[in-house]
Amino acid sequence: MTKKGMAKTGMEGRHFTATVYLVRNTPSGPETLLHLHRKFNKWMPPGGHLEEGETPEECAAREAAEEYGVKIRFIRAPALPACEEGRAINLLQPHAMLLEKIAEGHWHMDFIFVATPNGTPEKSEEQAKWFTETELEGLAAFDNVKQLAKSALQLARQLPPTQPAQTERRPPT
Ligand SMILES: [Zn+2]
Repeated sequence: MTKKGMAKTGMEGRHFTATVYLVRNTPSGPETLLHLHRKFNKWMPPGGHLEEGETPEECAAREAAEEYGVKIRFIRAPALPACEEGRAINLLQPHAMLLEKIAEGHWHMDFIFVATPNGTPEKSEEQAKWFTETELEGLAAFDNVKQLAKSALQLARQLPPTQPAQTERRPPT
């Protein structure tokens, strides 16, 4: 492909990013928290670029805190072989890793995690909502988001059920 005519945005390249699917288990089944991304007009999980010196899991936790105002507890995949002593320790093994095309010449190498919020998410700069697996079907979301959200919901089944707060069920104003 020729570079002629490619619009330079200053964002070209391949960037390390992290994304986290927040899940909870309710008496009526598992749910995942997504927000409506204004730029894409699609429902997305929180995520963003790794900052200098940040591990992928630190980035995922920071993004969840910044975007939803919540601390998170990761749902860990078993890391094999475990290296918990000496000069190396395991970083948290991601649930998935994707290379995502963001724009022409702009790619994200995305570490995908699954976590559950400690307490109730308190804020969101954009509209956020919990979704069941059935609700994901017709949702305006990228295919990979739906796919990963569904597999995150499978992991959520292992969590003890929580009662959703009534206020969270109000339609957005
Ligand atoms: Zn980027």
